[in-house]
Formats: sequence, C-alpha cells, structure tokens
Amino acid sequence: MNRRGPSLLTRVSELLDPVTRTWDEDLVKDTFWEQDTNTILSLSMDADLDDWPAWHFDAKGAFSVRSAYKVAVRKREHDNAKDVGGSGVVEEGETNFDWRRIWRLEVPNKVRMFVWRFVHNNLAVGKNIARRGVKWETICPMCNRLDEDGGHLFLKCKAVKECWRLTNLEDVRVRLTNCRTSKETITEIWRLEADTQLKVWVLLWRWWSARNKVNARERTAYGAEIYSDIIYYINEFSKLKKAAGTGGGGGGAVAKWEGPPPEDMYKINIDASYSDRTHAGGWGFVARVETS
Ligand SMILES: [Zn+2]
Repeated sequence: MNRRGPSLLTRVSELLDPVTRTWDEDLVKDTFWEQDTNTILSLSMDADLDDWPAWHFDAKGAFSVRSAYKVAVRKREHDNAKDVGGSGVVEEGETNFDWRRIWRLEVPNKVRMFVWRFVHNNLAVGKNIARRGVKWETICPMCNRLDEDGGHLFLKCKAVKECWRLTNLEDVRVRLTNCRTSKETITEIWRLEADTQLKVWVLLWRWWSARNKVNARERTAYGAEIYSDIIYYINEFSKLKKAAGTGGGGGGAVAKWEGPPPEDMYKINIDASYSDRTHAGGWGFVARVETS
C-alpha cells in the first residue's frame, strides 16, 4: 500500500473523523491511491483500538532486524540493477549466493560488514562513485597510476601485490584475478580452507582501511607496514577463534586482555546489556592507546 505523495499523516487515527470515529473518506482518498482507498474504506474501524506500529515486510507485522536486513538487500539489488542501466542482468552466481554465510564467518562483525559491502560492490572506490554520477578522482590513491576499481585496488595495485606476496597468498591472488564479479570473488574465497580464508579476509579488510587513510591524506602507503598490520589482526582473530572453540559454552568468543596495543593503534573494548523486564539498558567502552 502506498501513499500518493508526501503526507504529514503518521497515524491511522488521523484518518478518522474525530466525531463519528469512522474513516474520513475525503482524507483517505487524498492520501492513498484509488485501489488502496477502496480497501481501506471497506475495513471497519474499532474506535477503541489503539494505534500500533506495524511492519508490513513481516507476515506478523512485527519488526525484526532479520526482516529489515532482507528489505535492505532487496533494495540494494534493485538499485544496483538500475545503476547498470536497468537491464536487470543477473550476475552469475547471484541466484544461489548464500548471504547468510557472511554472518557465519568466524571474524568480528566489523570484518563481516566489510565483506558484505565488498560483495555489494558499494565500497566507495573511485569507479563506484563515478558510476553514481559524482565527479570524483578515479585514480587509485595507493599507486596514483591506474583507475581505481575493486579489481585493481584489492588485487592488482602494486602495493597490494606486495601484501599478498608477503602473506604467502600470491597463488590465491592470481586465482582471484580471474573472477569477474565481487560475488564470484567471495565464492572463490569460500573454497579456501579456514585458516587461509581468515588471512584473506583480514588482508582485504586492512588493505581497505589503509587505502582510506591514504585517501584522507593521513599518510602514505607502504606495503611492508600494511603487512605488519595484517599479521597483527590475523594473530588477534586466530586467538579469538581458539578461545571461542575451547570455551565449551558455545557462546561468543571470550578475549583475554593481552596488554597494550601496538603503537599507533587504539584498542577498544565494548559491552552492553538490556533488560527485557525493565526496558532499560546500558553500554560502555574502554579505549586504550600506547603512548611513549
Ligand atoms: Zn593502485
């Protein structure tokens, strides 16, 4: 059901005649399209019923993060189809691509978010921005030589090649250069064994972070420096994985405090709680940085 245009109404009760407590027919007709208007007017109104927010993407009208996620994915795919000229071309692997697998990756959520955006091809690399009609530098900020698209930035750029080589993943990199879409790339990565996969995710994610710093003119990129950052996180995540595996509870990973983070890095611990009974919640965080 769609409104005909912008409307100031937010609640169903505002569509009722305040005296008779039945539909204000003129207002309903002004607000909705004819087809919907007839449906609405045929509904009998229980004047004593309170308004409550309903979410029509769920069969029971209840809002859930899961259903919101589905809506977001659908919208993104719809928008992407429009971006390539509305041809509605379905990428190879699109139909059987398992989105849920991203959320099962044994990495922290921030990395999953990165992977999700990587698959959706909506990381703000130069070419993607240019595609959306924004005037933007499309030259790769890491090498200042070639156009920055996902394939160049993550696989073919001079400094990223150094990272792949140092991490002993050169053979993986070569295989991935044969993939034509981000979904194909991810599907190929999913074929790797768990430890190798972890390395690849961390490499892509840290490389992206380094690229953003360079892009913001914060610093220049050195393959070896980014590599040591990659190794740091691979070790951190491996420890988390092990802790989760031997925890016995099967719940979330319990990380042990490992002393101060390396120089130039902030370590942030966060936690939050919520009580269903009192509807009250709280959260907190501790940030730590090594200063010399
Ligand atoms: Zn480059």
